[in-house]
Amino acid sequence: MQAPLLTIVIPCYNEEEILPETISALSALLEDMIGRHQVDQGSRLLFVDDGSKDHTWKIIYKEIIKGGFVKGLKLARNAGHQNALLAGISAAKEASDCMVTIDADLQDDIHVIPSFIERFKEGCEIVYGVRAKRKTDSFFKRTTAESFYKLMGRMGVDLVYNHADFRLMGRRAVEELEKFGESNMFLRGIVPLIGFKTAEVYYDRKERLAGETKYPLKKMLAFAFDGITSFSITPIRMVLLVGVLSFLGSLGFGGYFLLLKFFGETETGWTSLITSIWLIGGLQLMGLGLVGEYIGKIYKETKRRPKYIVDMDLFNFPLPRHLLN
Ligand code: UDP
Ligand code: MG
Repeated sequence: MQAPLLTIVIPCYNEEEILPETISALSALLEDMIGRHQVDQGSRLLFVDDGSKDHTWKIIYKEIIKGGFVKGLKLARNAGHQNALLAGISAAKEASDCMVTIDADLQDDIHVIPSFIERFKEGCEIVYGVRAKRKTDSFFKRTTAESFYKLMGRMGVDLVYNHADFRLMGRRAVEELEKFGESNMFLRGIVPLIGFKTAEVYYDRKERLAGETKYPLKKMLAFAFDGITSFSITPIRMVLLVGVLSFLGSLGFGGYFLLLKFFGETETGWTSLITSIWLIGGLQLMGLGLVGEYIGKIYKETKRRPKYIVDMDLFNFPLPRHLLN
């Protein structure tokens, strides 16, 4: 097989602190891979600026003008990590045999990308980067992430354990991915649904080199909740089950209190009354909230809004002449 044409897609949101380092590390890697004839010499890096508020785009733009491996895609506003990834691979797919997505913070080991390419040459359309160890993550992040994967597994969502968004996809896989119409794209859940021959490559995940995580606890919880409710109706079934159980339980209670009333001593019964009011009220609210969550999802999907809006595509189109200096 000929050396494939590779595009490495890097979503960036306010990454000015780390970006210069990322650019030089990835450029060096790509140069090396081209030198070894592992990938085609037309291979490129595609930095997607996800509506950053700092100098991220300026840095990318300057690199493009220099004329190295760097290309850029600027989104009109912040669309979120998953959408920025999609924007990048969609823009790159026509001019690439395969695409690798990687975060801008260099937490993932870029030196396993050649192994991704090996697997691709062996016919794998999707190659997952899997974290072998999580020792650099904080205890908190590690345990919450682990319980997330376990929970998703129990709910019947097929996730690749300890795989984030560091993966290779062939052009065919990307074309299939684009057919998934949902506007809420949780890629880790959707990509395994595509099929094709896949492989996993293991690596150690490092600490973020600079800048801060764009996933503080609040966003992490929102991400997990979104992941669960987008892929599974188990929560709604659990509410139903709890509802049925509490109904049966309250029948038993009722019988018991009736027996007490006729054959034993009855107290005022205030405790049981107030407890059941709270119990039933809580259950109802919980159920309503969950139903609302799903209805909200339907509402969002029916709007069919674009997932992202491209401001400037400097991957497929050259720089406008008047912008060159
Ligand atoms: N990112 C993005 N848009 C956003 C948030 C994050 O493109 O709205 C990018 C970010 O620049 C980084 C990647 O997504 O390249 C992952 O984010 P981060 O490293 O903050 O997440 P963590 O690794 O802490 O989960
Ligand atoms: Mg990170």
